Amino acid sequence: MNKKSVKDVDVKGKRVFVRCDFNVPMQDGVITSDKRITGALPTIEYLLGQGAKVILCSHMGKPHNIFTPGYGLTKKEKKKVAALPEAEQAAATEAFMAKAAGDQKKLTLKPVADRLNEYLGGKVTFATDIIGEDAKAKVAALKEGEAVLLENVRFDAREEKNGEDFAKALASYADIFVNDAFGTAHRAHASTEGITHFIPAVCGLLIDKEITFMGGALENPQHPFVAILGGAKVSDKIGVITNLIDKVDTIIIGGGMAYTFIAAQGGHIGHSLCEEDKFELALSLLAKAKEKGVKFLLPLDNKCAREYDNDSESCYCSAGEIPEGFMGLDIGPETIKCFTEAIKGAKTVIWNGPMGVSEFSNYAAGTRAVAQAVADSGALSIVGGGDSTAAIEALGFADKISHISTGGGASLEFLEGKVLPGIAALQDK
Ligand code: AMP
Repeated sequence: MNKKSVKDVDVKGKRVFVRCDFNVPMQDGVITSDKRITGALPTIEYLLGQGAKVILCSHMGKPHNIFTPGYGLTKKEKKKVAALPEAEQAAATEAFMAKAAGDQKKLTLKPVADRLNEYLGGKVTFATDIIGEDAKAKVAALKEGEAVLLENVRFDAREEKNGEDFAKALASYADIFVNDAFGTAHRAHASTEGITHFIPAVCGLLIDKEITFMGGALENPQHPFVAILGGAKVSDKIGVITNLIDKVDTIIIGGGMAYTFIAAQGGHIGHSLCEEDKFELALSLLAKAKEKGVKFLLPLDNKCAREYDNDSESCYCSAGEIPEGFMGLDIGPETIKCFTEAIKGAKTVIWNGPMGVSEFSNYAAGTRAVAQAVADSGALSIVGGGDSTAAIEALGFADKISHISTGGGASLEFLEGKVLPGIAALQDK
């Protein structure tokens, strides 16, 4: 996959529309982590430095579509109101509209504009709408080396519906489209895909990095290639396992999903997480790995708890021998040794998903040990998923990882070998 980046096109004096992922966590109107903002800065700073006029766009959360023409209630809300006795309908309508107004306050991108200005020395103005009068005037007034951030693009329902007229209106602001929002690249929305039908489209530096690292690992990996997958459910990672089994030398499975593989082979797992409807699939994946000579490592032992609670009674036991009344919440010490050994000699490592309930301090050891092993491996390492990334960062290992992916769902779909519409639509080199 070889897509043109912002550095492959002439942007001097051009109007450039940049789709970012500014979907930052907020509490009471205050940004609690601005990692996504700082992640977007290299592309924005590059463009401003080149003398481009920059139009920034992002979504935040899942708002009511307040800016949609004729906005009233959504279809779902209308149905809910209609199902109520007539006397209650007016109050229910009012409550939904009040929620929409609340969304506008809570999910506005204004705090993001303020934070951008702290980093960019006041070069960013904020438009209080998307394709309305304020945005149009502020885009028209842009000078070279200045930027405007549009209001939350999901305030308009046509964004997620990939409405053609909406995409065209966004495109009319600019000469070039730059997609730098990897986290939404798996969605064909107006500001990620629709817009590419109207103006030339290239990727930003963040997406360029995702493609270089993840694409490189999938297309041309250095061996031994080790994939480590964890997290709650097998069903979420089936596509990834199926795609990677043809490429890797070793697959390591931890977390809740491991118990389905163990139970499918007749092991006792107490009341650990289990997807019985995936037994057949689990067995076929094990058979496929054997046939291809891929090492498929499952936990050898577990740390178990009586209740799903950090402080509940706990015990260690061998895999497949979890007593009734207990559930596995982390991998055990033997497994940590085995997994660490397997990661040691790797030249390429992909890790997605925790080895246990890493949110519970008593069940975080397995995830921490894997984070340590990946950091120590010296391999080209790619880490994705909130819990794995959190473990890497908590241990201060971020600079030992070659690439920390910025997309949850998008990163999994990429590893599944799927075409991401927001990337497929960009120009090839
Ligand atoms: P995912 O989003 O699929 O990567 O899954 C992450 C979630 O899996 C985290 O919230 C973990 O608490 C959960 N998880 C990992 N291992 C287990 C386990 N053994 N039992 C229950 N939940 C688990």
